[in-house]
Amino acid sequence: ATGLDARTVRKDFPGLDREVHGKPLVYLDSAATSQTPRPVIDAMARYYEHFNSNVHRGVHALAEESTEAFEGARHAVARFVGADPRGVVFTKNATEAFNLVAYSWARKRLGPGDVLLSTQMEHHANLVPWQLAAQDAGFELAYVPVTDEGELDRERFDEIVASGRVKLFAVTAMSNVVGTINPVAELAGAVRAANDEAVVVVDGAQSVPHLPTDQSALDADFLCFSGHKMLGPTGVGVLAARPEVLDPMPPFLSGGEMITNVTLEGAEFNEIPYRFEAGTPVIAEAIGLGAAVEYLERIGMSAVRAHEVALLQRALPALEEVEGVTVHGPRDPERRGAAVSFSVAGLHPHDIGTLVDREGVAVRAGHHCAKPLVRSLGSAATTRASFYLYNTEDEIDALIAALEATKRFFDV
Ligand code: PMP
Repeated sequence: ATGLDARTVRKDFPGLDREVHGKPLVYLDSAATSQTPRPVIDAMARYYEHFNSNVHRGVHALAEESTEAFEGARHAVARFVGADPRGVVFTKNATEAFNLVAYSWARKRLGPGDVLLSTQMEHHANLVPWQLAAQDAGFELAYVPVTDEGELDRERFDEIVASGRVKLFAVTAMSNVVGTINPVAELAGAVRAANDEAVVVVDGAQSVPHLPTDQSALDADFLCFSGHKMLGPTGVGVLAARPEVLDPMPPFLSGGEMITNVTLEGAEFNEIPYRFEAGTPVIAEAIGLGAAVEYLERIGMSAVRAHEVALLQRALPALEEVEGVTVHGPRDPERRGAAVSFSVAGLHPHDIGTLVDREGVAVRAGHHCAKPLVRSLGSAATTRASFYLYNTEDEIDALIAALEATKRFFDV
């Protein structure tokens, strides 16, 4: 018993109740975007139907109600990840959260002689912003390689950190490709022990939706994640920053809302987090995300995690029993999340994705926006099935049956 009944949970998700090519939908692509439960849809509809108005500046009733709902969402999100609400900035997505740090911290605080350490396991969102910042600011980039088991190479990490020059460490808490859960707090501690000025940026895009999260326990100065992967809407992401790190930072985007005074000569900037939310913020989306974290809290993140471990215990051996299948990443369900990449000998991932779709099974095929990692697995692409709280064991069986049908179709 995992404390979570996926069949009951599914009733809250209208998007799961449909057919694809005449077959019941089996949605195994939540690592890309999760489905949306009714309470999230309702919370956004309530905003548009009852108190649609701009936040913070209004004196009328609707503006007060929308401000209260928006700031309530900020508090809910902060509580969900153990963050201080003053450090919770609503962005457009996780990608924008990384860019905020790249512009307002990395470009300002790093220079020649400094090292920004990232890993070969990262999503492009946690790579490209640093590469562009390095070009502008002249600091060095270093990467922790990934072992054949899909883990970070701890020896190389220790060697690079020993230089004492690592001033920013950017690492994912959970890989979106191989599922690996990284020992973020331990790595962060090692980086700080070698350089007490270092800051730590954690990519929580995959971990926050699936694992109980506490920002201080992770030892993250900056935690970046996206609403649409954790039952919320698209269009909203979060930068959860330690207020003492965020407070001295200059603005990223600028305009209205982020100022306290403007003259033709210049401007004084608002306090955090508002200094980092220029213009009308993502109001309905943030309210939707607030409803999503409340929904997840009602179910309990430990129950979500236990359910996914149970699904992994069934899926990993079942996939490996299919002839020609290689599963990438850690074998131990306790060491990994529920994004499972695999390769099938003789089949291209795009052919697999297309053929299993005809059976109603939605998986992802490609480089998963993590080209350096996928390349290290020895191919340009993998097939990825990813599970969430609403997936059932029957759906794993449907994936296996669809894979077998695909192999028969291509005669491999
Ligand atoms: N990091 C990881 C690990 C991800 O899986 C994703 C989304 N695929 C992102 C960052 C970027 O998220 P978004 O596209 O919502 O900005």
